[in-house]
Amino acid sequence: MGKVIKPPSMLGMLGGGQLGKFFVEAAHRLGYEVTVLDPDQESPAGKIANKHICSSFSDKSSLDLMINNCEAISTEFENIPSETIKYLEEKVRTHPNSGAISIVQRRVKEKEFIKSLELPIGLYEPIESAELLSDLEDKKIFPAILKQSKFGYDGKGQHHVNNLTETKAVLNDSNEGEFVLEKKIKLDKEISVVLSRSSDGVSKIFPVIENQHKEGILDLSIIPARVNDVLKIEAVTYALKIAKNLNYVGTIAVEFFISNNKLYINEVAPRPHNSGHFTLDACNVSQFDQQVLCLTNDNLLDIILEKNAVMLNLLGDLWLKNGEVTIPNFTQLEGKGINIHLYGKNEPRAGRKMGHITVVGENIEDLIIKAEEIRSKLWEM
Ligand code: ADP
Ligand code: MG
Repeated sequence: MGKVIKPPSMLGMLGGGQLGKFFVEAAHRLGYEVTVLDPDQESPAGKIANKHICSSFSDKSSLDLMINNCEAISTEFENIPSETIKYLEEKVRTHPNSGAISIVQRRVKEKEFIKSLELPIGLYEPIESAELLSDLEDKKIFPAILKQSKFGYDGKGQHHVNNLTETKAVLNDSNEGEFVLEKKIKLDKEISVVLSRSSDGVSKIFPVIENQHKEGILDLSIIPARVNDVLKIEAVTYALKIAKNLNYVGTIAVEFFISNNKLYINEVAPRPHNSGHFTLDACNVSQFDQQVLCLTNDNLLDIILEKNAVMLNLLGDLWLKNGEVTIPNFTQLEGKGINIHLYGKNEPRAGRKMGHITVVGENIEDLIIKAEEIRSKLWEM
């Protein structure tokens, strides 16, 4: 294990969204300073960082500034150009590595990688253009979801298609190059594994999370997942194998589908994950704390789940429910075991993640009811 980077060193963060903001808060708590690189003047992380470099992720002079200012650099989203990570990692400690990012930022490459590890994955076909669609009908892939290979998140860039004609229509209408066509899986449940891996290969695994999505966007996470231990252990084993084979250092998440009591890997996120937000309020150490410890080469902490938890995402729709922007009255919700996190985004949009609420306590079914009551209250206000 290399040298530990001690506080108050300057750390770098590529990306200024809420995941970056939680990283900055964790780094500050541990005594570090942070420089955030993000093109948005008003980015949540940029606003609270010691320094905000407001530029694109491929601006060379800004990257040189990061190299000169920071002892180590991490990222908060997968769409940073992998050339950027490559440029940085040659000069300064940067995690995750460019090879890992270049695989997981393209769905097609990510799926090939998962297959190469002989891990379970649903039926899919890489699609390079409409002309190359050949005998798909024979492969029993429909009904399917056609997903953009790059830049998709929160269900964006996805189309539900029932046959070849519908698939061709979407492809002909699109300027995007690469797609992947995935057979729709009958989902019994979705789960995720969030873990942090240090440079000497030690991993600390957070409790397995059960996830409920609405229209492709994470809605509710339940911790610990209500899934049998065999599946949990299997999911953790697969996530560890993925992290190891990516030479991954930092916090990583793997999303899984469960269908007929069998796991299928959905996708990998090379960063902390929305479903891991409960760690801020229910664990002794958060996914962001561990991200900082991985980056600074410090020892990771053993994880203790202190309370069970249910997390509810707050989307911009709630701010727009009256047809104009109204900020919900969150102070009315305050109470024991209710943790409200708002990301400080100026512009609420439908489907945009504006914050989340984590309720913690003992009985999971009670916590789910409590989260649903909070949701109803917010919509009735
Ligand atoms: P994103 O990158 O936007 O999170 P995902 O591929 O994870 O995209 O898809 C978002 C959600 O859509 C999933 O969590 C799941 O609920 C649903 N979904 C995606 N792919 C499939 C599939 N092949 N079969 C069934 N549901 C799917
Ligand atoms: Mg996903």
